[in-house]
Amino acid sequence: MKSASRSTALYLRLLSHAKPHRTLFLWSLLGMAALAATEWILPALLRHLVDHEFGAALGRLSYGIPLALVALFAVRGVMGYIATVGLAAVAQRVMMDLRDRMFRQMIALPAGFFDQRTAGELVSKFTFDVTQVAQAATHCVTVIVKDSVVILALLAYLTWINWRLALFLLVLGPPIAWLIRRVSQRLRAMSRRLQGSMGQVNAVAEEAIGGHRDVKIFGGQDYEAARFARAINDARKFQMKVVATSAATEPAVQMVIALGIGMMMVFALREAAAGSMSRGDFVSFVTATAMLLPPVKRLTSVNEYLQRGLAAAESIFGLVDEPAEPAGGNVGLQHARGELRFEGVSLAYGDRQVLESLDLHIAAGESVAFVGPSGGGKTSLVNLVPRFYVPQAGRVLIDGVPTDTLKLEALRAAIAYVGQHVVLFNDTIYNNIAYGALRALPRERVLAAAAAAHVSDFVTAMPAGFDTPIGDDGLRLSGGQRQRLAIARALLKDAPILILDEATSALDADSERRIQEALGRLRQGRTCLIVAHRLSTIEGADRIVVIEHGRIVEQGTHRELIVRGGAYARLYALQRESAELV
Ligand code: ADP
Ligand code: MG
Repeated sequence: MKSASRSTALYLRLLSHAKPHRTLFLWSLLGMAALAATEWILPALLRHLVDHEFGAALGRLSYGIPLALVALFAVRGVMGYIATVGLAAVAQRVMMDLRDRMFRQMIALPAGFFDQRTAGELVSKFTFDVTQVAQAATHCVTVIVKDSVVILALLAYLTWINWRLALFLLVLGPPIAWLIRRVSQRLRAMSRRLQGSMGQVNAVAEEAIGGHRDVKIFGGQDYEAARFARAINDARKFQMKVVATSAATEPAVQMVIALGIGMMMVFALREAAAGSMSRGDFVSFVTATAMLLPPVKRLTSVNEYLQRGLAAAESIFGLVDEPAEPAGGNVGLQHARGELRFEGVSLAYGDRQVLESLDLHIAAGESVAFVGPSGGGKTSLVNLVPRFYVPQAGRVLIDGVPTDTLKLEALRAAIAYVGQHVVLFNDTIYNNIAYGALRALPRERVLAAAAAAHVSDFVTAMPAGFDTPIGDDGLRLSGGQRQRLAIARALLKDAPILILDEATSALDADSERRIQEALGRLRQGRTCLIVAHRLSTIEGADRIVVIEHGRIVEQGTHRELIVRGGAYARLYALQRESAELV
């Protein structure tokens, strides 16, 4: 019974999304019901025709019935239009609302959420699952409202003609209901797996598209093709299972119906022979019974759609209900000085420990460089400042205020960030620099930031200058150009805390030197956290912190660390050697 109440909760929740459009929805239901309520008129006209007009003399021919027929279909046409268009309008709006809701929720989710899922899996929720829900809901509402009214109207008409025969038809109900219930659970479970496999198809395709160069260079075609083949084969198998099960159960249901109708005909013929039914009654009764079949058939298969829709709705609401980033406290942060303090900070991804009770104090306006072997935890450490991840133990303070008591927006407004993986948007160069909240800034400031990050150097050679579109994720730019764009974006933000995570790694020595000059000027009056591989770029930092295996192994100025002859001095000597080799 637990799953039944779960289904009910899901229906109600879906219904609540249709609530703002209830007027339209009601009109559509009304149209449907009116359409369905006129279904019995056809056999009734037939009955009249057979009993009263068929054998009539030539002189008494009437055009009443044919005209009534045309009028009937004219009315039904209008009703059908209202029902279909109204329902589609509601469905499309609900789809739009759901997608909007999902998208807003998705961009509010914490970084950890995205580590666990592929983009394809998420995209499939927006496309496949939402469409499934809308289709299923439209189909089910149509069938449940229209077909049950049709069935009721026809049954009432049948009872009116001959109640004994109608009663017999009603006896057929229970066995059919029993059959439907048996099929229900199985179909639901299969639909859920079908959705999962569609997500897998998307995931593999997107990876292959995103990594098409690596696929080519490393000869990954066979591997990707095999992976994709497996995914689509799974999708096919699940789809076939759903189809096969529903195809196998439908005929079983219909057999029961056919059996009943056969018996009903025998009874009807006996009634006719006994004189309690006219020819018209008989023809009309058989016609109406035959007309009962399609709606009954649709009603018996409605469950497949219902279950499919519910499974997709579960997937959608799963995303909508995913807890958003903890909003933090409500302490504002105006004119932050940028003093940072890490107190006994420990961080783990799942059960993988990457930072271990780390303590560090960074004075306002200080430039601190982080160096050390890759995988040591440098990125993880700086990611704690904008609260991309929340430490399992310890805390991070800005100007003496724990970051988890700060308003998330206020915290992030105080930070400019150039990440390890530069992400650009499919837009113009200008809009990529003046991104998000920066869009409102005056053009001169955007151009000044572009000049400081040496973006202007390559923009002048571009066909439309700053208005040149750069393609999906800046595909039409070189690695160094991408980094310069990201740096310009960070410079434009002019925040008290600047985080540069290997932000100049893709630059050539010359551009790097020039950007370093710009950054050197920029460091004045703000706190800088710089992760760098090339040690030559951080010699000027106020302090250098060496991180290995999630711990600080030593810290000091360049000079101090060289004199000490520890980990940093060794790293430095190594890089000097390889530099001299070149
Ligand atoms: P660094 O920047 O010093 O190279 P990172 O902070 O990126 O090091 O990574 C530290 C460790 O944490 C690595 O071993 C890496 O595999 C792991 N790691 C980094 N990011 C994640 C993540 N989002 N989920 C799980 N493990 C991660
Ligand atoms: Mg890193």
